[in-house]
Amino acid sequence: MTEKPCPLSRPEVDGIVERFPTPFHFYEEERIRETARRFSNAFAWVPGGYRNYFAVKALPNPHVMRVLHEEGMGFDCSSLPELLLCEQIGVTREELFFTSNDTPAEEFREARRVGARINLDDISHIPFLERVAGIPEFACIRYNPGPLREGNAIIGSPEEAKYGFTRDQVIDGYRLLQRKGVRRFGLHTMVASNELNPDYFIETARMVFELAAEIHERLGIRIELVNLGGGIGIPYRPDQDPADIEYVSNGIRKLYGDIVVQGELDPLAIAMENGRCITGPHGYLVSRVRHTKQTYKQFVGLDATMADLMRPGMYGAYHHISVPGKEHLPLDEEYDVTGSLCENNDKFAIDRKLPKIEVGDYVVIHDTGAHGHAMGFNYNGKLRAAELLRRPDGSVHRIRRAETVEDYFATLDFTQLDAEG
Ligand SMILES: *Cc1c(COP(=O)(O)O)cnc(C)c1O
Repeated sequence: MTEKPCPLSRPEVDGIVERFPTPFHFYEEERIRETARRFSNAFAWVPGGYRNYFAVKALPNPHVMRVLHEEGMGFDCSSLPELLLCEQIGVTREELFFTSNDTPAEEFREARRVGARINLDDISHIPFLERVAGIPEFACIRYNPGPLREGNAIIGSPEEAKYGFTRDQVIDGYRLLQRKGVRRFGLHTMVASNELNPDYFIETARMVFELAAEIHERLGIRIELVNLGGGIGIPYRPDQDPADIEYVSNGIRKLYGDIVVQGELDPLAIAMENGRCITGPHGYLVSRVRHTKQTYKQFVGLDATMADLMRPGMYGAYHHISVPGKEHLPLDEEYDVTGSLCENNDKFAIDRKLPKIEVGDYVVIHDTGAHGHAMGFNYNGKLRAAELLRRPDGSVHRIRRAETVEDYFATLDFTQLDAEG
């Protein structure tokens, strides 16, 4: 693929901004549903059941989460507010995973209260959990293969990662959990982020299946669920192809026969925690050109900033850019596309070939549906943008308003200041 189609024409953007001013993130419900269905269809063969627990941190908006829940997804939470967000939309118990690290006591208590499946990040968390919240019937262990696997740029090498148990700790951990009264067991790993190579995920399944078989053999403990984590990438660049989910599924299916059935672990449930590949490609940051500037380079200044999308500034990540109404013009200009934050890495693109841009043009930044709005922040007094959802019937709804100065001030107490004065 060399083209990334933009779902918004200039007249459509003109219509939307009459009701909702830029900047905003724009999500497409129909596409999100299609992607969710593609996953559940691809893994419908799993004898013990398949479920993707959408990583809430990727897009923590209850309107989108409800759509995903309707499509059969559960949720992976890593904090107390994320657990509460799920409870707000009526999702509790086995539809929730709680995958945290450096976990505070109250979060374990909350996870127990809503009945989430607790995924333990460290062997020391077993006695900690027992002390602060009690031992649940089901528990999952997060495995970090360390030098046995290679990571990638975003997540780094597993040996350097702060997450999970070593291999030896996994064995000791299940022994300890069993002694403390856990009766049902899960095994988790997450070793990649934004990975497009489908074989990587098949290898991860092999690693986890083999470890589950070894645990069965050595400890007599039967793992009932493996969680392969998230991390399936998306084609941010026009020349990249999406990961082939059906290919991943077929590869895992073969290993299931070879390892899981042979190891007498069938039926084994398979879970994943994908966030990015479910909603990422179906979100767009829509922004308006405020100024253009010509110095040593050509700049386009938007009304959005890296507070609305920090991936380019943080990771140097590529996000494709379309200019509605100028789709057919030649890309014969080169721009740095910036926000207004007082940080020189507040750039959505550097040296990007684009059509000639004028003040008032709209700029659509692609693939912001995961880790986009969610990573926003208020540095420099920047206020986070709104979120809009296009329903399958074509209607556009605001599902989060833009922040206001009052929101920015909400944690400050000016009356105290007066009293001191
Ligand atoms: C961030 C995260 C995910 C989701 O990752 P994606 O790249 O969005 O698929 C899943 N599981 C855990 C534990 C995470 O930290």
